[in-house]
Amino acid sequence: MIVRTEIKFLQGVGPKKAELLKSDLGIETFYDLLYYFPYKYIDRTKFYTVREVNSNMQYVQLLGKIQSFEKTGEGAKTRLSATFFDRTGSLDLVWFKGIKWVQQNIKTGVTYVLFGKPSVFNGRLNMVHPELEPYDENKQNVAGTLQAFYNTSEKMKRNFLTSKAILKLQMNLTATLKSKIYETLPAWFTQKHKLMSLQEALFYIHFPDSNENLRKAQFRLKFEELFFIQLKILSLKLARTQKFKGHVFGVIGNHFNTFFHQCLPFEMTGAQKKVIREIRRDTGSGKQMNRLLQGDVGSGKTLVALMCMLMALDNHTQACLMAPTEILATQHYKTISKMLESLNLNVQLLTGSSKVKERKVIHAALLDGTLDILIGTHALLENKVAFKNLGFVVIDEQHRFGVAQRAKLWGKNSIPPHVLVMTATPIPRTLAMTVYGDLDVSVIDELPPGRKPIKTLHFHDNKRKQVFQFVRDEINRGRQVYFVYPLIEESEKLDLKNLESGYGTIRKLFPEFKVGMVHGRMKPAEKDEEMMRFKNRETQILVSTTVIEVGVDVPNASVMVIESAERFGLSQLHQLRGRVGRGAEQSYCVLMSSYKLSKESTIRLETMVRTNDGFEIAETDLKLRGPGDMEGTQQSGLGFDLKIANLGRDGEILQHARNVASDIIDADPNLLSDANSMLRRQIQKMKKAEFNWGVIS
Ligand code: ADP
Ligand code: MG
Repeated sequence: MIVRTEIKFLQGVGPKKAELLKSDLGIETFYDLLYYFPYKYIDRTKFYTVREVNSNMQYVQLLGKIQSFEKTGEGAKTRLSATFFDRTGSLDLVWFKGIKWVQQNIKTGVTYVLFGKPSVFNGRLNMVHPELEPYDENKQNVAGTLQAFYNTSEKMKRNFLTSKAILKLQMNLTATLKSKIYETLPAWFTQKHKLMSLQEALFYIHFPDSNENLRKAQFRLKFEELFFIQLKILSLKLARTQKFKGHVFGVIGNHFNTFFHQCLPFEMTGAQKKVIREIRRDTGSGKQMNRLLQGDVGSGKTLVALMCMLMALDNHTQACLMAPTEILATQHYKTISKMLESLNLNVQLLTGSSKVKERKVIHAALLDGTLDILIGTHALLENKVAFKNLGFVVIDEQHRFGVAQRAKLWGKNSIPPHVLVMTATPIPRTLAMTVYGDLDVSVIDELPPGRKPIKTLHFHDNKRKQVFQFVRDEINRGRQVYFVYPLIEESEKLDLKNLESGYGTIRKLFPEFKVGMVHGRMKPAEKDEEMMRFKNRETQILVSTTVIEVGVDVPNASVMVIESAERFGLSQLHQLRGRVGRGAEQSYCVLMSSYKLSKESTIRLETMVRTNDGFEIAETDLKLRGPGDMEGTQQSGLGFDLKIANLGRDGEILQHARNVASDIIDADPNLLSDANSMLRRQIQKMKKAEFNWGVIS
């Protein structure tokens, strides 16, 4: 096929440019170039007159002639000026570079399309290094269109592969391909969803003649991109449920009932009950469950996990819970064994620091089935950890784990266990539909009663004294306080508050209190020790980096001061804030920042002050950062590049594409009908590797 032709065979691309296109943009074929889309467009449909132009305007386009040239200065200071005029007035053009070229090529008396950014110099309107193109009504020309702009690297620019050069290549490519672009969607489909043809869309995306056609082209390409991903995900999910049978948890037995009636220390929230019902329905159905449980920090996910594990035990299988850190695993182990005290179950903890002797006992008990619930860290993944009959797997704070790790737990049983992955980093719906597209999702959208919402405040350095006084008052009232710093070691970056010096300062400022410190470079045992000292109230202040981000529970800590808060991501700030507000007291999160804030930092801090709602925060974060940066996407194996759609901005199109794909799969699960044969071929072509997360998550 012609689109598979190597790019070096395109007119205007020699071997050298081909090399650069490949190394810097990954463009190897005609197809790759065709699908290398612009990142912005500048309106060149409109011509201004000189009289309409002022120096506040961005790029403008005019039509006129050049009157005269004047060269002044010597050597490096040489400059060339010219006067450009139309029937309404004149402005000055200036060149500091490329003077020779201009003198040889730009002529007086010829009508030019002038394009550039107007400014003012010595009270006269001027334009520095403008673009000039002879005006020709009949020629294909960027004037009269929305001009596309393409990202290029510095190296490419040095070799004259500018955005404009790419646009020129796109023109050559269009001329070469003529109409040899084949439709990827069946006719009934494009008609039904009112989509532009692929041929047209690929033309207008590079050469839009109007906003209307640009919008239609973008919609067609985005919709198609998202639709095929959804179709692939949904068909993989279907294939998986058809292939693998799950354990059937047919009964609710003694363990569950006894716990529910006798051990539950509080009434479950409606949301917790709802999620347990959803899981019961799934695990009782004969299908293998893969479910993502999202719930904000403190929403009580652990209890849900525990009840599910009891369900597994009642159905003669074992259960395990994996957490990302030793502190967290230990904490889970303690709370869970305490809650299960009266149930006479064998619950064990396995982490990297478990002794060889303990391990041997655990391994043996897992195999002979006398161990009921195993809680631990990555240590659970080791091959030596083998179960007699593993029925239920819980993965806590799953954004810390990769797909491969999940798959490993999955493979620990001949009948794959049901998997519940939990996260407190809310994933916006759009992202969940793609990254975790084949997982079912449950949400705990309700906090246990009696929680006072955390108050979040943002201060600059001038309020430092008041903040410290406030901290002192709170500690004197019996509370404890976190100070969080962004870095561990002094960095060149000027004003970053450094943890060690922060620790020194805090100790000097609060000589009457005990101050602890934790950071990522400490050994796990040391870290645990410091955390335990804080938890046991031996220290009143804990100075730390973001290592305290996940899961640690110290209900008496009611104040968190985050230094250089502008340096943190939004989700991270929210996650950190979740460390306070876990007790009955009013809690506070104080965001300290410098005065100079970027627009994005300002939005982040304002969002934190405005809301405690994790989903709202996640949506904002996605919009600010784009999905590539979202915590979890890398690790969870979002292996495909979106060429045009943006999960942050195109949520509606995604939802629409998902619904359409879902309807098609419902009606024709294996896409065997004639009408769907084109769709079937298309998703078969999508690389298997790109979606390997789909089958194992
Ligand atoms: P997370 O969802 O962040 O993992 P946890 O499971 O750690 O939250 O629960 C946070 C706190 O709320 C724990 O101290 C837990 O005992 C308590 N909790 C959980 N469910 C309820 C409930 N229904 N009513 C009151 N407190 C609850
Ligand atoms: Mg938790």
